[in-house]
Amino acid sequence: MTRPYNFSAGPAAIPEDVLREAAAEMLDWHGSGMSVMEMSHRGKEFISIYEHAEADFRALMGVPSNFKILFMQGGGLAENAIVPLNLSRAATVDMVLTGSWSQKSQKEARKYASAVNVVASSEADGFHGIPDPAGWKLSRGASYVHICSNETIHGVEFQQLPDLAALGSDAPLVIDFSSHVASRPVDWSKVGLAFGGAQKNLGPAGLTLVVVREDLLGHALPICPSAFDYKIVADNESMFNTPPTWGIYIAGLTFAWLRRQTEGSLSGVAAIEARNIAKASLLYDYIDGSQLYTNPVDKAARSRMNVPFMLRDESRNEAFLAGAKARGLLQLKGHKSVGGMRASIYNAMPIEGVQALVDYMRDFEKQA
Ligand SMILES: *Cc1c(COP(=O)(O)O)cnc(C)c1O
Repeated sequence: MTRPYNFSAGPAAIPEDVLREAAAEMLDWHGSGMSVMEMSHRGKEFISIYEHAEADFRALMGVPSNFKILFMQGGGLAENAIVPLNLSRAATVDMVLTGSWSQKSQKEARKYASAVNVVASSEADGFHGIPDPAGWKLSRGASYVHICSNETIHGVEFQQLPDLAALGSDAPLVIDFSSHVASRPVDWSKVGLAFGGAQKNLGPAGLTLVVVREDLLGHALPICPSAFDYKIVADNESMFNTPPTWGIYIAGLTFAWLRRQTEGSLSGVAAIEARNIAKASLLYDYIDGSQLYTNPVDKAARSRMNVPFMLRDESRNEAFLAGAKARGLLQLKGHKSVGGMRASIYNAMPIEGVQALVDYMRDFEKQA
């Protein structure tokens, strides 16, 4: 059986090897006689799954030892509240607006921070780029600076994280990396906290990954729920409450899969990054050279993961989607706020899938 190519923005495709491994272990994990879903989170079997997942993510992404890796629940949207509950100290929060997701973060933070200062926004130009950090109006004494490092809906990605210290701010940088986590390396020297839901690049919905520098723990507001207090979560090895055990297991298989990947002399996340660059170039180059399709994003800020594109003749949208589906190319409809199409080409999408999409787009363009 060959599976169709799934371009969903999330929940999204999972590497086929990971799905097969999980299927093989579904009824009996490693001779335990239990499915992972049936295990106590405090038993030795699950503890070993958790420890491997943590260690593999740390090794894959080179997470320094002064950062904690937390496995939480609530998704990216809950983190929009959990981050200010833990980090704002009720002071001013700085935010950069580059699309729908950072906009949502900003609205939620206003409930907990004394003020939210929008240091830069690309809204006036339709969220088609990233405002130059040199022009950001960072506030003095902000508790943190928030960016969405990959805007899943607008298809805008930071190709480099801002160096806040060089910009004159000593606030920690918070990144929402939900939709490009583990697709490229992270320069942890520039980051205080990173969070991401698992359902784009790591596994099933229900798991939220938080990577937080230790000195940021222990400052939660008194109203912060205990299960969302990063220090309590860290002190309890993510087991203050029952963690999303199935999500941690699948993410762990995905981390191990990522560590095994090679591309020429590269391995792990460097190999995946090289592949992601090749996949994105293939698609953007085709779009830019075509008469029918367009992508409005500033070339320097185009996302390698989420590629929105429009048909110049919008009356053909439905025909495009129906034809794609008939060829086994699924979930290409764009987000309603942007329209058109969106191809999400996360780690699990092989280059053959992107080639199949480009081949289809070319055939469809010729039919006009
Ligand atoms: C998907 C996504 C979220 C929201 O995740 P939920 O799990 O639905 O809360 C947040 N931020 C970004 C960048 C996303 O892509």
